Amino acid sequence: EPNELIEAVTLRADRMRALRSLMVRDSLTGLYNHTTTTELIENAIARARRQNEHLCLAMIDLDKFKLVNDEYGHVMGDRVLVTLARLFRHRLRGNDIVGRYGGEEFAILLAETDPEAAQDLIDKLREDFSRIRFGSDERTFCCTFSAGISGFPDCKDGENLRIVADNALYAAKKAGRNRIVIGRSA
Ligand code: GH3
Ligand code: MG
Ligand code: MG
Repeated sequence: EPNELIEAVTLRADRMRALRSLMVRDSLTGLYNHTTTTELIENAIARARRQNEHLCLAMIDLDKFKLVNDEYGHVMGDRVLVTLARLFRHRLRGNDIVGRYGGEEFAILLAETDPEAAQDLIDKLREDFSRIRFGSDERTFCCTFSAGISGFPDCKDGENLRIVADNALYAAKKAGRNRIVIGRSA
């Protein structure tokens, strides 16, 4: 029966989509998970190389996030992560890629963007995020993040892109946090 066939195929397709989303996305934030983000970085750099285009990677890490959990609890910490993920999704373009790279660490891939433009863009997000007040009426707090940026063609492959962005992030933390540092390939 055609109707039964359509129903059966639709059901399987829905199930497949749900399963795929579980494999590809992080369940708390809905962003791409670590594995997917790493794959997408590789794809994006291959594409940038083919098209001769700029590409930037921003590694973002929440500042002193352990203190947020310690002071306000894990549920509130989760709320901060979800809010930041939503800010990224709303403010970035459709062809930019946002992933949750680790616990309180995010990776943003900006297509056709050079490191200076990426720094400006991420810095605006940094400012806006730092103004959000979390908590309840009697006890509110703000949160900040630091970021390290690397770019193609300065970096030649995905691994180099990640290492340079990571080192720049470390430099941003060392320099006092709540700032964006551009890294250069050695
Ligand atoms: P730094 O500025 O140097 O990055 O300090 P930090 O406290 O953010 O860094 P540290 O690596 O010491 O702590 C990271 C914290 O992030 C500890 C961990 O509990 C918290 N965290 C990681 N994943 C999650 C999560 O899914 N939910 C919540 N609520 N907290 C998380
Ligand atoms: Mg971290
Ligand atoms: Mg941190």
